[in-house]
Amino acid sequence: MATEETLVLVKPDGVARGLTGAILARIEAKGYALVDIRLVEPDRERLERHYAEHEGKPFYEPLLEFMLSGPSVAIRLAGNRVIEGFRSLAGTTDPTTAAPGTIRGDFGRDWGVKVQQNLVHGSDSPESAARELDIWF
Ligand code: ADP
Ligand code: MG
Repeated sequence: MATEETLVLVKPDGVARGLTGAILARIEAKGYALVDIRLVEPDRERLERHYAEHEGKPFYEPLLEFMLSGPSVAIRLAGNRVIEGFRSLAGTTDPTTAAPGTIRGDFGRDWGVKVQQNLVHGSDSPESAARELDIWF
């Protein structure tokens, strides 16, 4: 079976809280391969492309502001069914209800702000992965 790739981001809250290493340890322990990794300070234009599907939603502007608040770590990650597998490692979007044992469930916090500072991003389909990898690498 062909190896799949996905885009993972450790978002600004994860980098600022010093959780990049802990998150990478979970990814590596699962057996996925780090193909490329870089620290990125995205500009607004890059984030508008990345989050185009969410334009107009109530959390869109706060989300962009949050993502502009500091650097993210971008990872090109490879493995069998890695798109689905990383999203399973990450847990559901809301960190309050994300299952314990997931990255968001164990480390994510609901800060009472307008955006979920949920530590990581993972592409949700092969099409998204190809598009997003092109934006960040
Ligand atoms: P996911 O990152 O789990 O794929 P989405 O693609 O739906 O989630 O949303 C992108 C990001 O926007 C989320 O990771 C989160 O940071 C933020 N977000 C999504 N939905 C909400 C919401 N209802 N309220 C606040 N922030 C949200
Ligand atoms: Mg998404």
